[in-house]
Amino acid sequence: MRLTEHPLLRFERGREVTIYFNGRPIKAYEGETIATALHAAGIRALNYSVNKKRPRGLFCAIGKCSSCLMVVNGIPNVRACITPVEDGMRIQPQHGRARLPEKAKPPEFRDAKVVRADIVIIGGGPAGLMAAIHAADAGASVALLDENPRLGGQLIKQTHKFFGKREQFAGVRGVEIAKILSEELRKRENVQVFLETSAVGIFQEKDEKLVFAVRKNREPVEFRGRAIIVATGAMERSIPFENNDLPGIYGAGAIQTLMNTYGVKPGDRVLIVGAGNVGLILAYQLIQAGVEVKAIVEAMPKVGGYFVHAAKVRRLGVPILTRHTILRAEGKERVERAVVAQLDGNWKPIPGTEGTFEVDVIALAVGLRPSIELLQQAGCGVRYVRELGGHVAVRDGWMETTVRGIFVAGDSAGIEEATTAMLEGKIAGIAAALRLGIAGEEWLKEIEGAQKALDEFRSGPFGRHVLEGIKKAMVVGG
Ligand SMILES: Cc1cc2nc3c(=O)[nH]c(=O)nc-3n(C[C@H](O)[C@H](O)[C@H](O)COP(=O)(O)OP(=O)(O)OC[C@H]3O[C@@H](n4cnc5c(N)ncnc54)[C@H](O)[C@@H]3O)c2cc1C
Repeated sequence: MRLTEHPLLRFERGREVTIYFNGRPIKAYEGETIATALHAAGIRALNYSVNKKRPRGLFCAIGKCSSCLMVVNGIPNVRACITPVEDGMRIQPQHGRARLPEKAKPPEFRDAKVVRADIVIIGGGPAGLMAAIHAADAGASVALLDENPRLGGQLIKQTHKFFGKREQFAGVRGVEIAKILSEELRKRENVQVFLETSAVGIFQEKDEKLVFAVRKNREPVEFRGRAIIVATGAMERSIPFENNDLPGIYGAGAIQTLMNTYGVKPGDRVLIVGAGNVGLILAYQLIQAGVEVKAIVEAMPKVGGYFVHAAKVRRLGVPILTRHTILRAEGKERVERAVVAQLDGNWKPIPGTEGTFEVDVIALAVGLRPSIELLQQAGCGVRYVRELGGHVAVRDGWMETTVRGIFVAGDSAGIEEATTAMLEGKIAGIAAALRLGIAGEEWLKEIEGAQKALDEFRSGPFGRHVLEGIKKAMVVGG
C-alpha cells in the first residue's frame, strides 16, 4: 500500500519505528501519522460507534471529525489522523464514548505555559501563513499555531498547478506554494510557530485576548495577544446514503492526504461522488498513483468543475455519469462495492437503473463547509450564506468580525480557493497590525491592492456567486 514511485512526488520517510495495534507490531516511519501507518498495514477500522458498534474509519484526515478517535498509550479520544507515530506507541480502536483512565486528569489551564504575542493566528494554511508573514512585516510579533504536524493546510497535498495570476503563484503546484510560504515565514524572527497545537477556545481578559490550546494531546498552552486571526479552513461534507460510515468512505481531501502527503494508497478501486474541481482533480491524482478510478457520479445534469479537468479525466478513460447518485455502500468491516442509480428531474432515483461498482474506496467530493466553531464560541456574529458554503462570520472589508480584534481569513470565512485565502490572509494580517497601531498608514495601500486583486479574481464566471455571498456576509456599511 505504500507508494515507492510517483511521477511528481518523492516521499522522504523518517526513521523506521514500531507501533503496536492491539498488541500487534506494525512498521511505521517517523513523521507519518498513526492513521497513515495503520492504513499502510491494511487496517481500516479505527473506531466503533456508540450504539450499534459499527466500524468507522478515516474520513477527513485533518483532525476535524471523530471518525478516527483511538486510544493511544491509554489516552482516549486521540485523533489518529493528525497524531504522529512514536516508537513503541500502543494503539487500540476506541469503542463508543471515551472513558478516562483512572489516574488521568484533564489538563489544567492554570498550569499552562503562556505565550505572548501582539497577534495570535490560528491555522497555518495559505490564509494563516500569509496573515503571519504580512503582520510580521508590518511590525507585529506573531504566534501561529496549527494542529497538524506540518504547515501549509490543504496545500501540502495539492500536486496540480494552480490557475490565476503569476503574482498569486499561478502555474506553481500547491505543495510547492506551501514550501515557499513556510520558508518565508521561518525567515521572520518575530514569528513563533507551534505545530500539533489545537486551539480549543477563545476568551477575553481585560485588554487581552486568550487562545486556549493543547499541544501534542497533553500540554495546555495559553496564547495571549491583542488581536486574533482565525484561519482554520474548512471541513469536508458527507451526504446521506445507506452505510455511509463504512471504513473506506473518505472525504476527497483525506485521500489526497494519505496519497500525496504520506505516499500511502487508499485502496485499489475507487468510485468518486461529485464532479466539481475537487472530484476531477482527485481522479487524475489517483490514476497518477496507480489506483483505478471506476467512475465519477454527479447528481447535477452537468459537470461542475473546469472543462480542462473534466476533459483530462475523460481522456484517461474515466466515465463521468451525470444525473447519477450513490444509493448505498456494501461491505462488512469495509467497503466492498457501491450501488448507484440514475436520477429523474425531481432528484429521485429511477427504479431499474441501479448499477454496482466493485470498489474498495468511495471518495466523497461533495463540498466543504467553513470551520467557524471558534469564531462562534468567541461570540462573533454568524450568518448562513449558501454561496460561501454554510455559516460564516459577519465581517468588514478588513476581515474584522463583529468582535473587535478578531479577524477571519480563508476557507473559514467562506469556501473559495487558495488564491483568495492568501489575499484575505494578507488583508487580515495587515489590518490587525493597523488596528493595534503597530503598522503605519503606508500599509493601507497594501490592503487596497489585495482588495483589488480579490475583486479581479472573483470577477470570473466561477467567482460571481462568491461575490454575491460576500455581500451577504458583510457587516451593513462595512
Ligand atoms: C482537492 C482540492 C483541490 C484544490 N485545488 C485548488 C486550486 O487549484 N487552486 C486554488 O486556489 N485552491 C484550490 N483548493 C482550495 C484550497 O486548497 C483551499 O481553499 C485553501 O487551502 C484554504 O486555505 P485556508 O488557509 O483557509 O485553510 P486550510 O488550507 O484548510 O488551512 C487551515 C489550517 O488550520 C488548521 N486548524 C484548523 N483548526 C484548528 C484549530 N482548532 N487549532 C489549530 N489549527 C487549526 C488546520 O490544521 C490547517 O492547517 C483545492 C482544495 C482541494 C481540497
